[in-house]
Amino acid sequence: MKNKNIFLLFVTLTVLSLCTASSYKFNSELPVIENPAFSDAPLCPVVRIIDCGTIIVDINNQEVKIELTGVKPAEKYNKETAVFIENLLKGESVYVVNEPNQKYVYRAPESFFVNAEILRQGYGRADETTPFKYLAEFKQLQEFAKERNKGIWNTADISQSVRTPPAAPVLPKENDITVYVTKTGKKYHLATCSYLSKSSIPIKLKDAKARGYSPCSKCNPP
Ligand SMILES: [Zn+2]
Repeated sequence: MKNKNIFLLFVTLTVLSLCTASSYKFNSELPVIENPAFSDAPLCPVVRIIDCGTIIVDINNQEVKIELTGVKPAEKYNKETAVFIENLLKGESVYVVNEPNQKYVYRAPESFFVNAEILRQGYGRADETTPFKYLAEFKQLQEFAKERNKGIWNTADISQSVRTPPAAPVLPKENDITVYVTKTGKKYHLATCSYLSKSSIPIKLKDAKARGYSPCSKCNPP
């Protein structure tokens, strides 16, 4: 009898833990977008950022306005939007890939697809007014952002938030982030921080926190 009770308890706990583990599953996943071969595309410094859809780049010493194909920028260029796009492009150089009536921008040196990233992070809408090469993928990226209440989709009114299930908190992947500490300091830093001039010891963010380091107020790491 006692064994049976323990067995039942075990079953109950197993079922409960399975229920908790299978929290809300998103419908949309990220599309796979292969970068085109663009070895002949010019490498252009970003001169100015107009919004999450328009940038000015330097092509052969000429300032050229680039409207990113497939991206309708967030209506309000507010602080959050500005921070996002500046983190992505300020001071960077990009490859501009021209297709007929289309412009795709890839951040150097890793060829990071900027048009797609803006949609993935929810700082623009997929522009469906004219067909373009990645329309299906961009709509998918928009769904991805929408479902996770990212960027502009985060300001959803109440009627909308009732319809969409709550987004799971987006936790930073601390295992993947490297920060830097010094031999004697108690703070952790971004690689670019000037406090790292004497010593700079890479450490995983998770470990830095576990060892009691706190974020530097100058470079403001995650
Ligand atoms: Zn710092």
